Amino acid sequence: MAEETIFSKIIRKEIPSDMVYQDETVTAFRDISPKAPTHILIIPNYIIPTVDDVSEKDEQVLGHMFVVAAKIAREEGISENGYRLMINCREHGGQEVYHLHMHLLGGRPLGPMLAR
Ligand code: AMP
Repeated sequence: MAEETIFSKIIRKEIPSDMVYQDETVTAFRDISPKAPTHILIIPNYIIPTVDDVSEKDEQVLGHMFVVAAKIAREEGISENGYRLMINCREHGGQEVYHLHMHLLGGRPLGPMLAR
């Protein structure tokens, strides 16, 4: 079993979060340290530590994360102008929390994809 992170406690509502969406497979909540006017994390309700741990059994939930991201973006009013979905993997990717999560960022022009 993969080690739990703070995100498991957020899913189970054992610690507070600004949750914007939850269903049987995914949970979405506002990032505690937002990098854009909209900064929401979308996570599977079970632990996949990194993208490198993804396998075929995860295909449905990963696809669902995109559906939920698009729905939340529409609700946030950022769909028309656009936004960015980002998943960091391990050290070089800048991953801090080892429970796979998709960042939904928008609400202002986000600039180039990587810092130069
Ligand atoms: P990453 O660097 O891709 O692993 O992103 C981890 C993100 O989780 C960072 O943007 C943090 O600000 C965010 N984060 C960490 N702890 C919490 C928390 N308790 N509630 C909401 N967001 C969090």
